[in-house]
Amino acid sequence: MYAAPFSYFRAASLQEAVKLLQELGEDARVIAGGQSLIPLMKMRMARPAALIDINFIPGLGDIHNSKGELRFGALVRHADLEHSAAGVTVPILHDCAAGIADVQVRNQGTIGGSLAEADPSGDWGTALLALDTSVVCLGPEGERTVPLEEFIKDAYTTALTHEEIVTEVRVKAPPKGSGGAHLAFKRSAPVYPTASASVQLTLADHNTCKDARIVLGCVGLTAIRAKEAEAGLRGKPLDEKNIRTAVDAARAAADPQSDMRGSADYKRVLVGALVKRAIGIAARRARGESVDAGHEYAGR
Ligand SMILES: Cc1cc2nc3c(=O)[nH]c(=O)nc-3n(C[C@H](O)[C@H](O)[C@H](O)COP(=O)(O)OP(=O)(O)OC[C@H]3O[C@@H](n4cnc5c(N)ncnc54)[C@H](O)[C@@H]3O)c2cc1C
Repeated sequence: MYAAPFSYFRAASLQEAVKLLQELGEDARVIAGGQSLIPLMKMRMARPAALIDINFIPGLGDIHNSKGELRFGALVRHADLEHSAAGVTVPILHDCAAGIADVQVRNQGTIGGSLAEADPSGDWGTALLALDTSVVCLGPEGERTVPLEEFIKDAYTTALTHEEIVTEVRVKAPPKGSGGAHLAFKRSAPVYPTASASVQLTLADHNTCKDARIVLGCVGLTAIRAKEAEAGLRGKPLDEKNIRTAVDAARAAADPQSDMRGSADYKRVLVGALVKRAIGIAARRARGESVDAGHEYAGR
């Protein structure tokens, strides 16, 4: 089906994009990669009267390293990140970017659009919550920086007001001795995961966990930080017993729904297995090992 008719505006600057959002009102939407918005428009589940294209605003696709922070412009594509130096120094970013959908989607879809969409099955909301991430938003009142934990409020709901746009995503560089992994289980490449898990560990020595972040994806209305699971590892040796305690706590924190991707029970078991595997990979990376990881497919 074709999308319902709409007007098209091409913003030349961030200020012009914000002004257009103000002038055109609630029926106007920003378009970035179009990988969520266009399918919704074609299915007539979204009917914006106007689209404001931000793809021609200079600088929005840049990746910077500044003051111990990785800064990603809102238009950084999944593929840019997949092939970036940032993905080498912070492997969890590469795991996430490289596994999203297929090459076409990765070449178009953006990190800013993914967070603004706040799809409960989206990978970035999960992977970036395992890191210290904030989202820079620009509106008529100026700029504000919102921690990711406060930015995503609910399924498809963020802290953005209608007149604001995401301009940048900032990630604090993990400390020395830190390693992470994002694992997602999918039925095939061009579909969202059935469940995903992101783990970032910082080790005090070879085997003692100084700090842990454990985040579950696709098993709730938003990505879920499994704080009891994190506490099960923090300050403790990464031995079988402590890992089992953390995995059990992660499974208990999941709040999955049964749907076409699997039953709630199945997803709960799956997310536990992903957390266990992600802990193992994160620990190996924290010790300096190079380990391939990312999305996994049913039947492989
Ligand atoms: C077949 C298919 C499979 C996919 N599989 C996965 C997957 O496995 N994992 C995954 O994470 N994602 C997946 N996606 C989604 C993909 O990652 C999209 O790129 C992402 O959801 C949205 O980014 P976008 O740039 O395309 O945003 P758009 O579609 O352009 O916009 C999405 C929403 O965000 C708003 N928006 C966009 N940019 C901004 C901004 N800078 N400021 C404010 N609002 C903004 C728009 O107004 C719109 O409401 C898939 C998509 C497709 C089509």
